[in-house]
Amino acid sequence: MNIALADRVRNLPPYLFDRIDKLKAEALRNNVDVIDLSIGDPDIPTPSHVVEALKRAAENPEHHRYPSYRGMASFRAEVSAWYKRRFNVDIDPEAETLSLIGSKEGVGHLPLAFVNPGEVVLCPCPGYPVYSIGTLFAQGEPYFMPLKEENDYFPDFSAIPQDILKRARLMFLNYPNNPTSASTSRDNFVKAIELAHKYDILICHDAAYTETYFDDKRPISFLEVEGAKEVAIELHSLSKTYNMTGWRIGFAVGNRELVQGLGKIKTNLDSGVFQAIQEAAIAALQTPDDQLAYIRNTYQDRRNCMYDGLRSLGLEVKRPEATFYLWAKVPANFNSESFSIHLLGKTGVLATPGNGFGVNGEGYIRFALTNGVDRIKEALERMRQVI
Ligand SMILES: *Cc1c(COP(=O)(O)O)cnc(C)c1O
Repeated sequence: MNIALADRVRNLPPYLFDRIDKLKAEALRNNVDVIDLSIGDPDIPTPSHVVEALKRAAENPEHHRYPSYRGMASFRAEVSAWYKRRFNVDIDPEAETLSLIGSKEGVGHLPLAFVNPGEVVLCPCPGYPVYSIGTLFAQGEPYFMPLKEENDYFPDFSAIPQDILKRARLMFLNYPNNPTSASTSRDNFVKAIELAHKYDILICHDAAYTETYFDDKRPISFLEVEGAKEVAIELHSLSKTYNMTGWRIGFAVGNRELVQGLGKIKTNLDSGVFQAIQEAAIAALQTPDDQLAYIRNTYQDRRNCMYDGLRSLGLEVKRPEATFYLWAKVPANFNSESFSIHLLGKTGVLATPGNGFGVNGEGYIRFALTNGVDRIKEALERMRQVI
């Protein structure tokens, strides 16, 4: 029997974290005290009122049956109310919202709904890998828009060739940004909307980090910008905001044809989100702001500690206004991979090589703030010996 992978899987770009993963496993086997600053997965538990809401809802047999495809009416109503409270954006809960099994699922499926084979999808580079992989699964052609420091990590649309823009069907944007930690301005969103109108390009804004911000600098929603709803869908996640990565729930909002097109793919592939989890998500979206401020302050303390520490080691690093990442230049004589291997081998500190997010991430390394201040201090102390 010839069990050959399909071309779309066989032709996937190589998994760049492979080597690092193997080195980490080896370090753990050798009983190295690894300080893992590589993963974008909160170490803080889900708030207890959310866990309690799940427990209560799990006892209700009504929730044991297939959920509705688009999300429960009460969940969609809460999403709409949250958008109004948080961004002052009006979202029709009936036609402009959709539950997702995490926002990754929405990113991955969106090209299947809107991209024909051979059409171009504009993807930020460095960027979350699912934008381009989802494109390839839909037989689309990713075009990588470099995110450069001198442009505050926003794409330079004037650098995209005309023939690419004419063939482009969809563009992914993500602010606050993973992995660069950059926030962006309303003006930049306006430029994106102008480009979208001029070339008939749909926009998907991945808003996973709008609630993980510092110094009271609250990021805006793409949908706050005039005309956004004509061209855009925005994907939100409860994962990072409420420390719920394991729960797998997010949502899409925005242009109704975009939302409904994505829904059409999903009705044919999945059967929605367990309703008890949707009940818990409603409780999460209703979390009082002082509790969220506590989570943000925890990350802010870690950000301050890591930023000051890396600077004192002589590393060039961006001071994030949001996300829980720091994006640092690797020292001279290193590249992304050799520096992360150096750190892991000499100190047991694991950070993510920037080139894993695409060629424009080369020369950078990403530190995640998913360890407490004590561990961050310990990591910095160890690094001081070898940088
Ligand atoms: C974490 C992350 C996601 C995925 O979040 P889920 O809702 O857990 O699927 C999407 N986009 C970016 C940029 C992320 O960092």
